[in-house]
Amino acid sequence: MPLDRRSRPLRALRLSVTDRCNLRCQYCMPESKYDWVPRSELLTFEELSRVVDRFIALGVRKVRLTGGEPLLRADLPALVKTLAGKALEELALTTNGVLLRSLAKPLFDAGLRQLTVSLDTLSRTTFVHLARRDELHRVLDGLDAARTAGFSRLKLDTVLLRGVNDHEVDALVDFAAQLGAELRFIEYMDVGGATRWDRDQVVTRAELLSRLASSRGSPHALPSRGSAPAERFALPGGQIVGIVASTTQPFCGACDRARVSADGQLFTCLYATESTDLRTVLRSGADDAAVEATLERVWNRRVDRGAEARAELLRRGPLADAEQLKVMPQLEMHRRGG
Ligand code: SAM
Ligand code: SF4
Ligand code: SF4
Repeated sequence: MPLDRRSRPLRALRLSVTDRCNLRCQYCMPESKYDWVPRSELLTFEELSRVVDRFIALGVRKVRLTGGEPLLRADLPALVKTLAGKALEELALTTNGVLLRSLAKPLFDAGLRQLTVSLDTLSRTTFVHLARRDELHRVLDGLDAARTAGFSRLKLDTVLLRGVNDHEVDALVDFAAQLGAELRFIEYMDVGGATRWDRDQVVTRAELLSRLASSRGSPHALPSRGSAPAERFALPGGQIVGIVASTTQPFCGACDRARVSADGQLFTCLYATESTDLRTVLRSGADDAAVEATLERVWNRRVDRGAEARAELLRRGPLADAEQLKVMPQLEMHRRGG
């Protein structure tokens, strides 16, 4: 298994299957217009499957499909079926849930068992404000469909923005408990795409823990998370809540994740400005050994600790502004896969 320059193994892959999205979350896609990657530049299912095989050969055991909105990729269950047959310990998918009503069962039947749905609010008005589309009813209906389809280990991911949805912490904890899902709060990150990021809008891990302590009683930390980004806490009522403190307490030291964007760019960090053009390697007729050698070489050179470096900045603002993102759209979170 390859190690990077900080002795971190390569164990996990976030694989983006599309850069398109049917929402426009303020913290991810706040602009009015986006240019999409041409379809001919997207990795085909055969290429995606091959990429996963080559990562598995190097020791990767966890793959998470993401986007953009992954459910927009045509025939996604067919890809899931192929990937579910591979030697992985974990095949997971992160979705905004809008299209789950029709896709939950086909995805489950294709072999997917780990599903994370992003849900920031239970209020229609707040949803429209935050995601700029009137789709909350479809997300909630999609969650219901996911339960009916058989997804018993649902996760919900919530990004809190102060003054927007942070008054809903308790309501979201209760909603997750009723659904039998594990809720994870993700700190608002200053990643590419978050052009309106503002430190004051971040509800930090520390603040969240103290708010939970006052409303529900002291959260009790559960044992070590290994390389998983979420710290897990048990609340006195029995619910488990995760916190991903990527902004105030980053965990780059344990980061074992590579990312491949929908157009086949290999990134070694969410914040990386450089990538390796895997698509060209794949389409140039390289054999499996050559593809693996590329992956291994990139990983061996890896030094990234993007979120830690951001946390050390004295003055912190958005990673990039809208003009920079037009020139470097590959920095966008929806493009490289969140
Ligand atoms: N569209 C899918 C979804 O929303 O679940 C998958 C892709 S989305 C980029 C993956 C995750 O990244 C979502 O849970 C989203 O909330 C999170 N995300 C996007 N921008 C973020 C930001 N600026 N800070 C923290 N999390 C962010
Ligand atoms: Fe929102 Fe996910 Fe779409 Fe980004 S990719 S705008 S987080 S739904
Ligand atoms: Fe990993 Fe980069 Fe995120 Fe740090 S910032 S945890 S190195 S992806």
